[in-house]
Formats: sequence, structure tokens, C-alpha cells
Amino acid sequence: MSTLQVIEPSKAKVMAEIPRAGAEEVDAAVARAKAAFPGWRAVSPGDRAALLRRLADALEDALEDLARLEARNAGKPIGDARGEMGMVVETYRYYAGAPERLLGHTIPVAGGVDMTFREPLGVVGLIVPWNFPLVITSWKCAPALAAGNTIVLKPAELTPLTALELERIALEAGIPEGVLNVVVGPGSVCGSRLVEHPDVAKIAFTGSTEVGCGIAAAAAGTIKRVTLELGGKSANIVFADADLEAAAASAPGAVFGNSGQDCCARSRILVERPAMDDFMAALERAVTAIKVGDPLEESTGMGPLISAGRLEAVGSFVPDDAPVAIRGAAPSGPDNPGYWFPPTVLAPMSNDDRASREEIFGPVACVIPFDGEEEALRIANDTIYGLSGSIWTRDGARALRATRALETGVISVNSNSSVRVSTPFGGFKQSGVGRELGPDALDHYTDVKNVFVATD
Ligand code: NAD
Repeated sequence: MSTLQVIEPSKAKVMAEIPRAGAEEVDAAVARAKAAFPGWRAVSPGDRAALLRRLADALEDALEDLARLEARNAGKPIGDARGEMGMVVETYRYYAGAPERLLGHTIPVAGGVDMTFREPLGVVGLIVPWNFPLVITSWKCAPALAAGNTIVLKPAELTPLTALELERIALEAGIPEGVLNVVVGPGSVCGSRLVEHPDVAKIAFTGSTEVGCGIAAAAAGTIKRVTLELGGKSANIVFADADLEAAAASAPGAVFGNSGQDCCARSRILVERPAMDDFMAALERAVTAIKVGDPLEESTGMGPLISAGRLEAVGSFVPDDAPVAIRGAAPSGPDNPGYWFPPTVLAPMSNDDRASREEIFGPVACVIPFDGEEEALRIANDTIYGLSGSIWTRDGARALRATRALETGVISVNSNSSVRVSTPFGGFKQSGVGRELGPDALDHYTDVKNVFVATD
């Protein structure tokens, strides 16, 4: 087997070399998962719940090591990485409650008894991106296991290390052999083999809209179930009556978090025109306070981009004549070889500009002025995406009106948070199909069986 070099983006240096899988290894992993399925679905709900709790405990014991590994490999600040590992643990604990609560219905019918069951799908293929590697894995793995499925997990080739640790920890925690299988290799080879494989019942994918389109098309060949969590270009709408200090203090985290490599990034900041000057002044204070640097330093607020390729792509959105209103500091020069890009705010921008329309996936925000609620909603909805977003206002009726009018799967009022383990997360429009987290995710890892028993 050939090898795959794993890079540490803050140093632009190889941090690990691991075997690179191809289509044959995918086939072998699917065969292991298929063989393990009858045994795993037969584990009693109480025992399956106990195993998921043991897995959560084992991950909690390994939390600091996992956080450091993720921080180095994905280039994220160690404080953020610890928070993410905390969510991983919480996600397995939450879904440990599911096996004993996968309830069906009894339905009144003539001539007998009718009831429904939630059946596992079989082998599910999980394809995960590099920006939140173990967190997004847990959003898929935990409900899939809880519902009685077996798994082939393909992490992103840039960030496979915590997934390999998960596979080891799961075995040690007592998850039976063959239930959770990790295959590390290129998406175009291993990912596409998983999508085409006749023994895989479902693909749960998080990644770009472009790759998601191809997966939806390829999965049609075997009528696979598919859930897609894709790109975003979310709006952070600040009305003039809002608490501007609070909105401006929170805005950088909402777009520069994870160096802007976040599908939920509120990368379009819409500001009501009378509030522009005050908001921009407060935003500048917040952006220039962000410390960009070594992910393992406790005080770091933002790390590097994931790769040289991303650095070039993000740079293309900030040409020399771009209206740069605010630029933070970032490491540079030959002593700092990582993939660094400073937090950057472009203003004033139009929603028609390329940087306002495309997902940049880097620390670049566009501030777009607007006049009145109607224009704000029109601009916010004028995108192919619909993943997250925020509204800042003190007018409660307007907040409710606007949340209903926005074409997006997740929206917050006077907050920029998007994700909680117990609430559904997913996109409208080209941001995706299906929901992760909360009770809704379980619908996507089960099929409903209807049983009628004649009694007459
Ligand atoms: P990507 O689409 O390039 O890759 C995602 C995964 O798909 C990787 O594991 C990759 O190896 C695999 N892959 C690539 N080509 C494939 C193919 N032909 N068949 C099957 N699998 C294939 O995305 P990325 O660059 O890793 O991640 C960034 C994207 O992910 C952004 O667009 C971002 O918005 C999106 N994202 C969305 C969410 C969400 O929940 N909506 C969360 C995080 C990231």
C-alpha cells in the first residue's frame, strides 16, 4: 500500500505518514461492516446504549490527547479543539439515549393491529471534511451506531488522525470488531467507491456543494439514502436598533472562527446604514484584538488555513484593489512557514461582488450596508445557499417575522451560535439535504417498517 503524508498546517511540515487506502481497502471494510451488521443490530437496546456510554467515557478520558492532535493537524486553537472534543463526548452520550427510545406507532385500522418499527439501514458510509474532523464524524457515527447500523468512515485525507484514534478507542471500549471501520484515502477513489458500492445502504456526506452534487448523482445508481451537509454563505443581519457593541463583539468569532473554514461562517455581515459607522468602529476593535498564531498556544484565537491550496484560493478574494476596511495581524516571513492569512473585512461591499456570492472558506468577511427590513431579507436570501445566519435587533416582532422569512436551516436571534447536540442542524436550498443532531438525525439512519397483523 502506498503512503499518505499528513501535514501540520501551522508549520507546513509533515507530522505523520500513514497507509493510503484504495478501492480494494474500501471493499474489504464494507465486507467487514456487512459481516458485523447482523450481530450489532441484535445487541439489545440497553446493551447498545451501555456501549455508547462506554465509548463516550473512553473519549472523555482521551480528550486532551485528541484535542492536541486535532489542534495540530487541523490548525485550530487548542481551546477550540478542547471545546470540539467536549461536543464529541456529549454527542455519543446524547445518542446513547436513543436505542431504547426508537419508538414506532400503533395505528388504528380495520381487521387487525398495525404497528411500525424503526429498522437500521445496514452498512452506512460516512464521508467527512477536514474543518471539524472528529466533531462532524460524531454527528454521523453516534446516531448511526445507536440505530444499529455498521459503519465505514472515510475521513478527509488532510485530517485523518483523530478518526484513526476513534477506531482504536471504540474497539477498546467494547464496540465489536467490524462495526466501525476507518478507511483513509483520496475522495475520488475511496469516497466514490463507497458511494457506488452495492452493499452500502446510505451515504452521509459533509463537504462542498460541488462534491455533494456528484455524490447525489452517483448514489442514484443504487437508490442509496443520502444526506448532504454542504456549503454556506450565511448572513449576519445587524439592524440599527440592535445592541451594536454585542453584535460587533460577536461578529468576528462568527466568521473568523476556525480561520473562516466553517460552513456556518456568517461571512456576509449586513448592517443597516445608520449604524454603519458605529458598528465598523466596534468591529475594528474586535478584529484587531484576535491573536493569530501557534494553535497550541493557550492565548491563540485563530490558527492557519488548512493548506497551501486554501491559502491561494482565499487570497484570490482579496486582490490588491479590494476595499479592505479592516485587516488583523498574522505571522509572516521565512520564520513562519505555515499557511497564514490575517482576518480581513471588506467594506462596503455589494451582494453582487464575487466575495459576497461565493463561499470563501477563509477569514474574509464582507460588510454589506442595507436600508430597511425588506432590503435586508432580500439580500440575505439572494444566494444559492441556506445553512445558518443571525439577526440582531431589539424588536421582538421583527425578529420573529425575519426568522420566518429567511431561507435557511438554522437561524439565531441576538446570538451567533448554530449548533447544539440536541437540536437539528442542516441546510435549505443548495446547503444540503437532511438534518444532523437532535432527534431528527435518527430518521436518516433508519427505515420505517409497517406491520399488519390480522386479528379477525
Ligand atoms: P470536499 O467536498 O472537498 O471533501 C469532503 C470529503 O469528501 C472528503 O473526505 C473528501 O475526501 C471526500 N470526497 C472528495 N471527492 C469525493 C468524491 N468524488 N466522492 C466521494 N467523496 C469525495 O470538502 P472539504 O474541502 O473537505 O470541506 C469543505 C467544504 O465542506 C465546504 O464547502 C464547507 O462548507 C463544507 N462543510 C459543510 C458542513 C455542513 O455541515 N453543512 C460542515 C463542514 C464543512
